[in-house]
Amino acid sequence: MPAATVAVDPSVLAPLPVLGRDVAVPLVTGGEVAYAALDHAASAPALQRVWDDVAAYAPYYGSVHRGAGYLSQLSTDLFENARRTVAEFLDCRIEDQVVFTRSTTDSLNLLAAALPDGCEVFVFETEHHAALLPWQRAGRVTFLDAPSSPAQAVEILERALADRDPYGPALVCVTGASNVTGELWPVRELAVAAHAHGARIVLDAAQLAPHRAVSVRDLDVDWVAFSGHKLYAPFGSGVLAGRADWLREAEPYLAGGGASRTVARRADGGVDVQWHETAARHEAGSPNVIGAYAIASACKALTEAGFDALAAREDALVRAVREGLADVPEVRFLSLFGDDAPRVGVLSFVVDGWNSSHFAAALSAEYGIGVRDGLFCAHPLVRRLLDGDAGGAGECGAPEAGALNAIRVSFGVGTPEEH
Ligand code: PLP
Repeated sequence: MPAATVAVDPSVLAPLPVLGRDVAVPLVTGGEVAYAALDHAASAPALQRVWDDVAAYAPYYGSVHRGAGYLSQLSTDLFENARRTVAEFLDCRIEDQVVFTRSTTDSLNLLAAALPDGCEVFVFETEHHAALLPWQRAGRVTFLDAPSSPAQAVEILERALADRDPYGPALVCVTGASNVTGELWPVRELAVAAHAHGARIVLDAAQLAPHRAVSVRDLDVDWVAFSGHKLYAPFGSGVLAGRADWLREAEPYLAGGGASRTVARRADGGVDVQWHETAARHEAGSPNVIGAYAIASACKALTEAGFDALAAREDALVRAVREGLADVPEVRFLSLFGDDAPRVGVLSFVVDGWNSSHFAAALSAEYGIGVRDGLFCAHPLVRRLLDGDAGGAGECGAPEAGALNAIRVSFGVGTPEEH
């Protein structure tokens, strides 16, 4: 692969040492794994700096919101500062709430549980299952057909919203960047369409936030969700940020301590509960302070490195892979909006004559290249891209034997420029 030309500051974005790249791993066929992480879209190995920040937190370790002790106070400050850092990272409105969750899946399920009565939900069939599935439990869902261009996505949404009662609650859920094709979606235009018809919009930024600056204000989205483990923080933490009203009016996502302000026995033997109206309402239990702190550290590192530099570096990697494979006619890239559409560093493809799972296994065993194969938790989209039909079933990561599936490579700061 030719060298990409744009450097990012290695002191800011050095990833943790990983097997294959930094630690030798023998291959079954002899030799050693050369590099084993072209799979940042699944999880991006944490940055060394994030890891160091978490280690530096250790002396302040204490339970938040619960103690008068010095360490508890310090921990509470660090936790609440992490909330502010995330709000700045996302360029939130002053009145927005930042709720710490476990992941994007958790964030979107939380929002689904907070939908007002009678809420209609509009979602493209192309979404990751985390953004496709939570709504069916909560409201009336309209699944929108896959568009063939960003402009058509807006038209499809406009048409779907045109017939609805503009005074009833409605939500549009849309991805910022596809985890299958890497393509960027016209979030701002979709938000304009949603708002014009009285609907709100939530942005699934799981794949966008690690690669592009996300501004809640500029995109004019009502909520945004992302996962720490895709943003170079460790597993187990995520964010739902945005408008406070639906969250404040909803029952707490989990009932328990931390979410409740006062609890008192009633004369009739039951209990009366007053719930918090802040983000704490949906953070019952002892929160994942370290996860929140790690996300904040990753947000700072990415901001410091600069998204323009990151995007330019990834563009160069995408171009290099495409050019490298251009001479292999059996390779077919998957895209909705066209091969040249703007995208983050995610590319999926099939190799004619090869079962994708076998191909991916061979890449790993023979060359030490770790990629993802399968339907990428976006079955309707991958099936549509492969055979023009969004139907069918299969497991998230491991499709049933003989099923059509694809191969995905995805880049991040840990992807070397030379390979
Ligand atoms: N949305 C998109 C676009 C994703 O790519 C993913 C994960 O791959 C998710 C949501 C779910 O993220 P998590 O598994 O961290 O909840």
